[in-house]
Amino acid sequence: MTEIPKNHPRYESLMVREQIAAGVEKGITSSQGLIAQGRGEAFDYLIGEKTIDSADYAEAVAVCLLLLAENPVISVNGNAAALAPEDLVMLAQLTGAKLEVNLFHRTEERVKKIIGTLKESGADVVLGENAEPLLPLDHERAKVEREGIYDADVVFVPLEDGDRCKALTDMKKLVIAVDLNPLSRTAQTAHVSIVDNLKRALPNMINMIPDFRNMEEEDLWEIVNAYDNNVVLVDAVETIKENLTAKQNELLGIVEDSDKKDGKPGRKEPKKQARIQRDPEIARKVMMRGGDLMME
Ligand code: ATP
Ligand code: MG
Repeated sequence: MTEIPKNHPRYESLMVREQIAAGVEKGITSSQGLIAQGRGEAFDYLIGEKTIDSADYAEAVAVCLLLLAENPVISVNGNAAALAPEDLVMLAQLTGAKLEVNLFHRTEERVKKIIGTLKESGADVVLGENAEPLLPLDHERAKVEREGIYDADVVFVPLEDGDRCKALTDMKKLVIAVDLNPLSRTAQTAHVSIVDNLKRALPNMINMIPDFRNMEEEDLWEIVNAYDNNVVLVDAVETIKENLTAKQNELLGIVEDSDKKDGKPGRKEPKKQARIQRDPEIARKVMMRGGDLMME
């Protein structure tokens, strides 16, 4: 493992990357999992690497649903097992959910290793070894256990594959997904889409459980019924837009001036063009677009 200096500006993110790389070395994460991690990092950057309010709300609703469910199941893949095995086990124990290993790049060896990791993290029972192809899918994600995901009424699916997410919703299961990409098929298909990093979502959900555990079912249903997943997705996209606009303004040298009465941002001299434009035609287009933006 590479030694990462604590004062590195991207320390946290690099440490998480090391965790995934260690998962690959141990044989619990697939090499494709590295790519999924990279995509997640990119979206986390755009989200601002924090739990936005709408994700916090979705996490609360997810906790309510897990507490209300008759047979809740937490589906675990190689990335989730590498990133947060203890939190997955704790969430399962505190909500009475079962844990089941379900992999896109399934090998029996990897299933066993993930089960081992979850047991080392405190789990008693982990399903997944006796999975049968019960879902209508042409890939290995189709393999689920009858008393597990197949019979579940609520399924919690961190870092899910869009195909299986759809298969689960088609089977009338309530699906809670954790996915940093609000545009992915998973986020668009799930009933509750948590647009947050799994590393932040799980501890946040665990902390919320005492608030909801003793509530009447009726009150929990009220929270669930008032929830609109579309609003949460719209908010995540809006957050990305705002973050991009703020960054763009910074590049344009526009400073937000909170004292201004008309509410429009104040302007500063644009920063000197630092980029080396090698192709004059591209340079011209970039300058024209930049110029137009500055005129707006
Ligand atoms: P879909 O199949 O739903 O359209 P995809 O094909 O774009 O999604 P996959 O490779 O199937 O993506 O799954 C990886 C997903 O998990 C990505 O959307 C990525 O943003 C997300 N992801 C990766 N790491 C994390 C993380 N730590 N927390 C939350 N989401 C993550
Ligand atoms: Mg996919």
